[in-house]
Amino acid sequence: MELLLPRKPSEVQLLDKMAADAVYEVSSDRDAEVFAMASASAIHSFVPPQKTSKLYLCGHCAFNCAYCSCRAGLDREDYLSSPAEAARLAFASVKNSSHGIFLSSAICRNADYTQELLAECARILRKELGFTGFLHVKVMPGADPCLIEKTGRYADRLSVNIEVAKSSGYERIAKQKNRENILSPMSEISSRIAKNRYERKPFALSQTTQLMAGSTGEDDRTILTLTSALYRKYALKRVYFSAFRYLSPAKGYEADFSPVQTPLWRTARLYQADSLMRLYGFSSEEILPEGEPFLSREVDPKTAYALRHLDLYPVEINRADFETLLRVPGIGIVSAKKILVARRYCAVTHDMLKKMRISLKKSVYFITCGGKYLGGNVLFSQNLRYVLSDNGFQLRLFDDD
Ligand code: SF4
Repeated sequence: MELLLPRKPSEVQLLDKMAADAVYEVSSDRDAEVFAMASASAIHSFVPPQKTSKLYLCGHCAFNCAYCSCRAGLDREDYLSSPAEAARLAFASVKNSSHGIFLSSAICRNADYTQELLAECARILRKELGFTGFLHVKVMPGADPCLIEKTGRYADRLSVNIEVAKSSGYERIAKQKNRENILSPMSEISSRIAKNRYERKPFALSQTTQLMAGSTGEDDRTILTLTSALYRKYALKRVYFSAFRYLSPAKGYEADFSPVQTPLWRTARLYQADSLMRLYGFSSEEILPEGEPFLSREVDPKTAYALRHLDLYPVEINRADFETLLRVPGIGIVSAKKILVARRYCAVTHDMLKKMRISLKKSVYFITCGGKYLGGNVLFSQNLRYVLSDNGFQLRLFDDD
């Protein structure tokens, strides 16, 4: 009689499974739509994170975060790759491409044991297989500082996911995580990046984190305040946002359950606000002052700021400094630099702006060139907000091109 043994998954099946388990990790494929939405109504393109092949060492977690398909207690087919096997798989999956590798894992036994596996996998990739591409490795909540050092030696980037915007959120959706076991490794990574850079020792160059927007009913103001604090305190390279989706209660979380499906446009607006803080010198308070908890769906955050401060506009293109130019809706960093260069030689006119490929669609309402204003009476019109909204532009109500 033939014995029916469970079939070992093929490498392709295993890679697919790993990618599915890493669904909440930031990814250029999954988040492409959000980045495209953010780029559509902003003055610069939102570059998705570098394409990476995602490798999950272990697929069955000792923790039981409510939203996760790997959580403890679920009846699912398990997998656990040895560091050597995972390194070989990862190396093979990026061999003929320019993709980087993203190494992560569910928590196997405990955080330190898993971190040790990840560090070893990273070591094999670099030292035995000679992988020289981009390597992003996850740090487990509460991982020992020595293991963070060991992992960072081989990685380009480290990340520990903060997940929620309010500490009380851990109890509601990720009971084994807490402020301490997330922020301690984040702080450790940040000081080791600075120290090793100073001492010229090999260590990861950057740290990122990810936050699930809407996971605890928090408003955008709370998210932006936290994001700004994370940049300040831990010198993060980026904070990534994912749209939280949680539609039926996980075991053990029934008491606090309420369904959440964060719309993608909300994460797109968060990315736009984030870029204003990182690149344009805005504070979180300027983007969402007290009394304004949420970003607008209709207008991008910079336009919303301008609409709240109409007394600062129009800005004279030939006199405004760089920082002021950056606060004009429709003028980005590249455009502001072009204007400053052109001003060295002559007075800049609206026609020159067009020739310099600087869009006047939004900016025309907020600027003068040599005292000349071409925005009609829009700034004083009743439907100003609609005219400047993404919808208004799509309908081309005021097509000035
Ligand atoms: S720690 Fe939580 S989110 Fe991460 S793999 Fe385990 S259950 Fe999933």
